[in-house]
This record gives sequence, structure tokens and C-alpha cells, in this order.
Amino acid sequence: MPRDFLKGTKDAYDVVVIGSGLAGLTSANILARQGFSVLLLEHHYQLGGMATWFKRAGGHIFDISLHGFPHGMIKSCRKYWTREIADSIVPLKGIRFENPQFSLRTTFTREDFTRILVEHFGIAHETVQQFFDTARGMNFFDEQSRTTRELFEQFFPGRDDVVRMLMEPITYANGSTLEDPAITYGIVFSNFMQKGVYTFEGGTDALVTKMREELIRNGVDIRIRSLVTKIEVSDDRAVTAVIVNGKRIACRSVVSNANVKSTIENLVGLEHFDRKFVDDAKAVRLNNSSCQVYMALKAGESFDSSCGDLLFHSEHKGFDIDAMLSRDVSSRTFSFYYPETRPGSDRWLVVSSTNANYRDWTELSEADYEAAKKDLIESTLVCLEKYVPDIRARLDHIEAATPKTFERYTRHLAGSSFGTKFEGLQVSRDLPQQISGLFHAGSVGIIMSGWLGAVNYGVIVSNDVDKYLTSSSAAS
Ligand SMILES: Cc1cc2nc3c(=O)[nH]c(=O)nc-3n(C[C@H](O)[C@H](O)[C@H](O)COP(=O)(O)OP(=O)(O)OC[C@H]3O[C@@H](n4cnc5c(N)ncnc54)[C@H](O)[C@@H]3O)c2cc1C
Repeated sequence: MPRDFLKGTKDAYDVVVIGSGLAGLTSANILARQGFSVLLLEHHYQLGGMATWFKRAGGHIFDISLHGFPHGMIKSCRKYWTREIADSIVPLKGIRFENPQFSLRTTFTREDFTRILVEHFGIAHETVQQFFDTARGMNFFDEQSRTTRELFEQFFPGRDDVVRMLMEPITYANGSTLEDPAITYGIVFSNFMQKGVYTFEGGTDALVTKMREELIRNGVDIRIRSLVTKIEVSDDRAVTAVIVNGKRIACRSVVSNANVKSTIENLVGLEHFDRKFVDDAKAVRLNNSSCQVYMALKAGESFDSSCGDLLFHSEHKGFDIDAMLSRDVSSRTFSFYYPETRPGSDRWLVVSSTNANYRDWTELSEADYEAAKKDLIESTLVCLEKYVPDIRARLDHIEAATPKTFERYTRHLAGSSFGTKFEGLQVSRDLPQQISGLFHAGSVGIIMSGWLGAVNYGVIVSNDVDKYLTSSSAAS
């Protein structure tokens, strides 16, 4: 008999959360703390969604998306999770750019970027301050027609080198391009510039383990290997239940942490929505996907601390989004993981990440796909040799992930790494007006993606769910 991962679930809950990405986990935690009965359903065998890790022989643990996040994570984790989680968030100091236009190191703060823009790039101090103040002053309610390209053109006309320094890390962080609304850049860039880039000491496994413990303390019913195939909706357009692993579980509300488009199109079904909403949902563009190469050094081997923590490497002549997405990789971010990442460990690891087009990988035959993965590994080693000499001889393990891998583990349409483009946020926010009790919390709209964006969106949506459940209880 196959194991029943839903054994002992109740017949009904106040809230069913579909998916255990950081937004889903955070919503589940807050709603359970408020006293609602919460069922958390995750199709994978591990919680965390993209915030995940995997283990390989030799004691190696690879993090997938722990490359860096803004300081704001500390406050969000302290308030909505635990002090212990917040206290494990530590700064990354060594951030490095190496490309044909410049070679420099930074702490990734406003002060340090100001120094570099003035001293290295020769930009007037006043212009730099005006740029930072403009970016910092941007918010969701601003006029949204100005693009990031226009923002840069206003402050740094013709300065492709400056654009590269300001844009490349943000493109890696959330897939945004020069054609996206400037506010998406302004909000995310300013979050990072506040106090630099941070990481979680102990690794993603430690974070998710602590989150799981807190969810259990707050009474969340957690089920892994539980795939939701349907959100059931009544004739008068209210959520009534979910179908998970073939079982019907009733609920008063659903928070879907699945991709917003697949929530609407696959889990609910377009026939339940207004025509205009369907058109808007269909028009939402997905963000790009990713490739990664994971490398572990043999016991006793190490790399030099001059490698830094995060290295933005590019061989391309300037900032070029198509080149950054191409399977013919010319730009990579290397994350160097020292043993201190996981106190008590003696392992040295490198993860290379590149943005990628889903179709470049899915349209290949099986043989070509395997060959392309081998090429990716080989070109990554050729590149890394410049920073870690003799890397091949020192490696204990190497493997690659592609958009197909991300799609398989997170079920994101097109293996999207960072949710949707900006228009996805409005569709996500409008969902409860279409179907009572149905909410979406997860990477969406560029500004609500990444670790901080996902956690904060989980908070916003849990407040909406709280209001809905409280008012619907009062009404009944
Ligand atoms: C390679 C890579 C590197 C990244 N690096 C960084 C970084 O350095 N810093 C940073 O801040 N962000 C980074 N990110 C982005 C960040 O990890 C994500 O934006 C964030 O973790 C997404 O959280 P989420 O809540 O949107 O949900 P997701 O992580 O997308 O999780 C959704 C969950 O829902 C589950 N699910 C989906 N459908 C169903 C269903 N029908 N039934 C049950 N479960 C379902 C999935 O299995 C998954 O667990 C990176 C992402 C990638 C891919």
C-alpha cells in the first residue's frame, strides 16, 4: 500500500495553504498564530519551495537560492517568525564584479556605491545622491510607465558601464530588465542599498527546519508529498474545498503559493472568472528561469578568501539581457560558500548561477539536453579556473540544474525562478474579488519576489485572509 501522507487530516480547516515557499510558510505561520486552523500542503518531500537545498555524498549540502537578500529580512523574520531565526541572519562582505568594463569590490551599500560611482566612474556626487533619493522614494502607487532604462538615461546618459554595475546584480536577483517599470528596480535596489547583502548562517536547511518547528508550535498541520490538483469553488463563487492526492478537504479560504497563472488556469479553472480578469491573467508574463552548477571541493581543499562571497562575472562587452539569458553563457554569478556558512562544517562549495530561457532547454532532444548540461558544466569550470586555480583536480562533486529542474521541483510554469513580471501583482491582488476566500501569496510582480519579497507578501496576504475570515465569521 502506498503511504497515505494525508492520514489523520481533519475534514475541514479555516485555511488551506497550497505550497510551502517562503510566502506560503509565512502566511501559514501568521494565520495559525492568530488562532485559525491551517493545513499546509506541499507536493515536494521538503518544505521551502525555491528556498531549498540538497545533499550529496561526502557531506556536501548545496543551497539553491541562498546567495543574498536585503537587510529587511531581519525585521520580517523577527516579527513574523522568531528571534532565533532573525539572529542567524548575517551580512555578506565580499561582493565583487569582474567584467571587461570594470573590476571592483564592494560592500553593496549606498555609501560604498556612492564612493565607486564618484571615484571610479567619475559621476558628480550630487547626481549620485539624486539617483539614490529618487530610487528610494519610489513606491507601488507611483506612475508606472517610466522604465528602468529611462531612469538610468535620466541620471547616467550614455553610461553603459554605470548601468551594468547598477543593473546586473538586480537582474540576477529577480530577472528584471531595463524595460520593466522603474519602480520595480527602485524598490528592490533600495532594499539592498539600505545595509548591503545578507545571508542565513547555518544554510537553508537550518532556516527551513526552524520554520517548520515554529509552524508545528503554532499548530499548523503540515503535509508533504501532497499535490493539490483542484481548488473547488461554489456556484456563487466562493472557495469550498481543495482536492489533494485525490482527497477532498473542505476549507473557508485558500492561500495559493503556487504560481499565480497555474492557480487561476489549472487549479481553479478559467470558467470561474470574469472575462476581463481572464484576459488580464492570460496576459501576465512569466519571469525567466535559471541554470546552476553546483561544485564541492574535496576534503582538505579550499579556495582563497579573495574570491569573496558573491562574484558577478561576465565576459560580455556590456550589460545585455539577451546575453545573460543565452545558453551560450557569458555571464555568471558565483556564490562561494566557506565552512562558516554552516558552522561546524569543513566543506568548501561554489554555486554558479545564470539566468536562462526555459525554451532553450525544453526544446532539446534528450541527447542534446544531456550534452548541453555537460557543456554548461565544462564552460563553468573553464571560467572558474580563473578564480580557483586547478579547480578540476580539487573537485569532489559537480552537477548542473536547468529550467527543467526548477519546473519539476516547484511546479512553476516554465520553471520561472522569480514569478511574474509586474502585471502579475495586480492579478494576484484581484483574485479575492473574483472568488471569495481565494488568495494568492508568492513571487509575483518582481517586487514581491526573492526571499524578502516572498516573506513580506506572505504577511500582506495573511492580513487579508484574517480580515476575510473574521468578517465572514461575524456574518454567519
Ligand atoms: C536559482 C535561484 C536563485 C535564487 N537566488 C535568490 C537569492 O539569492 N536571494 C533571494 O532573495 N531570492 C533568490 N531566489 C528567488 C527566491 O528563492 C524565490 O523568489 C522565493 O523563494 C519564492 O518563494 P515563493 O513563496 O514565491 O514560493 P516558491 O519557492 O515558488 O514555492 C512554491 C511552492 O509551492 C509548491 N506547489 C506548487 N504547486 C503546488 C500544488 N499544486 N500542490 C502542492 N504544492 C504546490 C511548490 O512545490 C513550492 O514548494 C532565487 C531563485 C532561484 C530559482
